[in-house]
Amino acid sequence: MPPGSTQTDKPGSFRWTDRRPHALILTIALIAPTPLHAGETASPTPEPYRLRAVVETLASPEYAGRSGAGAEKAADYLVDRFRALKLEPAFDDGEYSQRIPGQEPGTRIGRNVAARLIGSDPKLREQYVLVAAHFDHLGVRGGRLYPGADDNASAVAMMLEVARCLKTSPTPPKRSVLFIGFDLEEAGLFGSRYFVAHPPVPLDRIALFVTADMIGRSLAGLCGDHVFVLGTEHAPAIRPWIESAAKGRPLTVDLLGADILVLNRSDYGPFRSRGIPFLFFTTGENPCYHTPRDVPETLDHDKMLQISRMIERVVRSAVDAPEAPRWRDNPDHPLAEAVALRAVLRILHDHRDELQIGTAQEFVIRSTLRLLDGVVERGAITPEERARAIQGARVVLFTVL
Ligand SMILES: [Zn+2]
Repeated sequence: MPPGSTQTDKPGSFRWTDRRPHALILTIALIAPTPLHAGETASPTPEPYRLRAVVETLASPEYAGRSGAGAEKAADYLVDRFRALKLEPAFDDGEYSQRIPGQEPGTRIGRNVAARLIGSDPKLREQYVLVAAHFDHLGVRGGRLYPGADDNASAVAMMLEVARCLKTSPTPPKRSVLFIGFDLEEAGLFGSRYFVAHPPVPLDRIALFVTADMIGRSLAGLCGDHVFVLGTEHAPAIRPWIESAAKGRPLTVDLLGADILVLNRSDYGPFRSRGIPFLFFTTGENPCYHTPRDVPETLDHDKMLQISRMIERVVRSAVDAPEAPRWRDNPDHPLAEAVALRAVLRILHDHRDELQIGTAQEFVIRSTLRLLDGVVERGAITPEERARAIQGARVVLFTVL
């Protein structure tokens, strides 16, 4: 067993609270005349101590910043967890690992790991929902450890918890699911690009690709409960799932078009390029991003929990929905995007002194905010207005991050 996992997985203090609700549910189920509605109270949900245990393990010095031998160790850890959950290997020949070859014949530069959960519906099980997170990070540089707690141990923890919840749910998912840990994201999305070029299931059977990268902090360290969700512009049918999954949570969910980022900034890129419906969850870059300070102690663990639970609910909707979301080439940008951009720009503007925003950038923020005020008041945005707003937001984001 990898360090950390045995001792932190079953802490005595949590065991009591963990078991008790189940005992209670069982009692109610026995005396209640009607059965519980599956998917409600009896359904497992991501647990805070489990998320924390994964993050603390992967960010510990033994994993050496998850590059080179450290990435190998992280891949082994994921394989162990998939095995412990009794999930099937996703690749040919019963392998959990997919070698990513190097340029020289016979060499490899890393490996993806993935597990499969076969769906319960005889028809829908032919389709797959993918839940992924990259596990690699920057390693040890100049003698300093880059722990990558937020980037991206946070989303690996989420992915493992979603896997546990779906596998142990009393109502198994109708569609099949692949749980994936990508390697070499930091090197240029090598892991996800290789996976898409050599997929273990035909790409046209992927109903939805869900990934997250950094879900434990906030944009610029200032955006409190905001979480950004990219991708619904190409599959608007997903929006009600997100809305319902976010309901009642202390989160502000901002739907943004992926084109707000100039390049594909995470593993959704290769799927997006192939017209596969995708969702990308992130809390954005913050002052600890890609520094040795990206440690578990500075994470907002409650926010990470809420986002993980929200993603688990979205995935649940995706695996059981009668219809898979359809990809549309021509993106649909909701007005909510303008509202979200305005809220974030206002926060950054309010903190312009500590962010050391110069006069030129402040001018860009103010004019973009004026534009967005008009758009929100009118209740509509033209493509030209959106292009200007995105341009303004990019200038600001590049400046502060
Ligand atoms: Zn990352």
